Amino acid sequence: MIPAMRKVVVAGNWKMHTTPAEAGELARTIAARMREPAVTRVLCPPFVCLAAVRDALAEAGEDVAVGAQNVHHELQGAYTGEVSAPMLSGLATWVIVGHSERRRDAAETDEVIAGKLNRALEAGLHPILCVGEPLAAREAGADVAEAIVLDQLRGALMPNAGEALTGLVIAYEPVWAIGTGRNASGADAAAMADAIRRKLGPPMVWDTVPILYGGSVTSANVDEFFAEPSIDGALVGGASLKPDEMAGIVARAGVTARARLAVASAMRASRST
Ligand code: PEP
Repeated sequence: MIPAMRKVVVAGNWKMHTTPAEAGELARTIAARMREPAVTRVLCPPFVCLAAVRDALAEAGEDVAVGAQNVHHELQGAYTGEVSAPMLSGLATWVIVGHSERRRDAAETDEVIAGKLNRALEAGLHPILCVGEPLAAREAGADVAEAIVLDQLRGALMPNAGEALTGLVIAYEPVWAIGTGRNASGADAAAMADAIRRKLGPPMVWDTVPILYGGSVTSANVDEFFAEPSIDGALVGGASLKPDEMAGIVARAGVTARARLAVASAMRASRST
């Protein structure tokens, strides 16, 4: 598949910020600033804010999806404080899985992440599977970084059959770039996206999966990533709480998305003549 056929996605991860009352208001403000139908836009507030954000977006008539930041790997049971995929029904249509902060703070293993991914896909959610190498691996060289990321992918994805991956989005998020103000170069992020597509599975399946970049993305640096045909959007953390930043990031994503749509429609037209 050519990049022109893949959708462009901008997802905001609000992490542990906002109360429900604040979240509804913030979602309304941000959504009004990022009206770009060519871009799939997703806001991921904390669990307790999902209903407030859903309601605020629906009342305002905004075409912005709601995502959770995590989901449990079992369907139900004695797991105090956890939230399962079926519980998200009606609240969220997307979910972040395997974020490096959860791998670090909640000791999530590839096996647990594979379970989360399966539960999310079974529930019809769009999972954003996060992968990324630590600083030491990047400093050891691109090959080492790539080996770690591909291992994470194999760990999370191998129990899945190709067709079952419909709806999956991957976010390449180098750990050293998250919340640090340091970002990967566009070229390095694109090389990792290419490695992911090249090495895992038959092209017909993998070519359709959007791959986002995440790690200190701002409106000032996002063009570097959107200039890369292999990168299909951004997972935004800190900047996603700032309406001006989200407006800028989505506006730039819109330029890429509309250019892709134009290429796709020119290709269709040339095929039909
Ligand atoms: C994230 O939380 O996924 C993230 C990329 O954070 P930040 O943009 O703040 O680095």
